[in-house]
Amino acid sequence: MDLNAWLATAVASNADWAKGFGPYRPHPALAVDDTRFATAFEAFTERLKDNYPFFHPRYAGQMLKPPHPAAVVGYLTAMLVNPNNHALDGGPATAEMEREAVQQLATMFGYDTHLGHLTTSGTIANLEALFVARELHPGQGVAYSTEAHYTHGRMCGVLGVEGHPVPVDDLGRIDLDALERVLRTGRVGTVVLTAGTTGLGAVEPVHEALALRERYGVRVHVDAAYGGFFTLLAGAPGPEGLPEEPWRAIAEADSIVVDPHKHGLQPYGCGAVLFRDPSVGRFYLHDSPYTYFTSGELHLGEISLECSRAGAAAAALWLTFQLIPPTREGLGQSLAAGRRAALRWAELIEGSARLELYQAPELDIVSYFPVTEAATLSQIDAASNRVLQEGMADGDPVFVSTLRVGADRLTALHPKLVRDADGARVLRSVLMKPESEDYVDQLHERLERLAGA
Ligand SMILES: *Cc1c(COP(=O)(O)O)cnc(C)c1O
Repeated sequence: MDLNAWLATAVASNADWAKGFGPYRPHPALAVDDTRFATAFEAFTERLKDNYPFFHPRYAGQMLKPPHPAAVVGYLTAMLVNPNNHALDGGPATAEMEREAVQQLATMFGYDTHLGHLTTSGTIANLEALFVARELHPGQGVAYSTEAHYTHGRMCGVLGVEGHPVPVDDLGRIDLDALERVLRTGRVGTVVLTAGTTGLGAVEPVHEALALRERYGVRVHVDAAYGGFFTLLAGAPGPEGLPEEPWRAIAEADSIVVDPHKHGLQPYGCGAVLFRDPSVGRFYLHDSPYTYFTSGELHLGEISLECSRAGAAAAALWLTFQLIPPTREGLGQSLAAGRRAALRWAELIEGSARLELYQAPELDIVSYFPVTEAATLSQIDAASNRVLQEGMADGDPVFVSTLRVGADRLTALHPKLVRDADGARVLRSVLMKPESEDYVDQLHERLERLAGA
């Protein structure tokens, strides 16, 4: 993969296309001479060095990594045109690409029918799903687990609907008995299940929640912003294979959110929302004097809360999917490598005297904490923070993240811990780069040394 050559092709293809429209004079108001550009660019790249090396496997912290070169080139090439996927008129080619890429996402989840589109983010995609849910269940609230993404509560506020946080079990998945108690009040119209929680990658039991949908007449929305692409590993052979039930059940959910800018190799600005019933498009009806549609088909701008959206984001996803499709043999290989990396690291941690596994990884997030002199929550909290800070400051740095967990769950999973605080930070590493698989032993060795210091 020669990014230099690919980028040159991108620029040349745009110039070629532009030439067909004949010459015109660029305006001097926008002229920038190359020396001034060079000076500004040097300062700019200097500033950009103030970043963590998300691309490198020594970065094993949050859900961050650069896009695939195919996405970079797809984005750049389309951005040189700058289509707006609000409507076919804003960019016919990228609107078509968006439809095709969204169809591939729908197929990946097993949807036979769908209405869907890309969004700027998972947050906006969830907002759209909850907006439609509110229109269908006016006056009723939304239930989600306390481990659901924090934006669900916020968006309930935005939509003016009541949010009902539901407690979780010891492994951080929604407690179905507690959920049923909330449903019995009749105040809930929609249940959000998270397929891969942001903190620990816990997969909530979508298959079991579907039974409650029949019993209480609620909608089921699956937030798979982070975990969605792991559906490619459901029932896969080998250690990376995942239990099938929750993933297969997603095909029955009323709506789904997935973030191609997390595991889909895309740059930021790429979330997606899918509805199983295409007729929900009716809730988006709008009229304005300056938008018009030149064909009878349903336009993306007619089924989205956002107006302008980057056609380049759709182009990037489409081009990526041409090369690495969302299938088990395609993108699934990259997720499988991350999953195997998480399993391998968990095994190493279990054999370690300096680190302890917080809980077994369900997807590619590993959670662990340093073994401390006194097994108290306050010591674990301080040691986790010290490892985080010292890891970053080291000459041979390693980047992890911390996760705050409550005392109840910590002591339920680790009964020998002494509860001298209401919770503690533990360490957390998202192994979302396939390159992590080869690097796990080094990561472990670094973390062991930091923990033992
Ligand atoms: C990341 C995430 C979100 C929010 O998505 P953004 O793209 O960051 O806005 C929502 N839900 C879950 C489960 C997530 O992991």
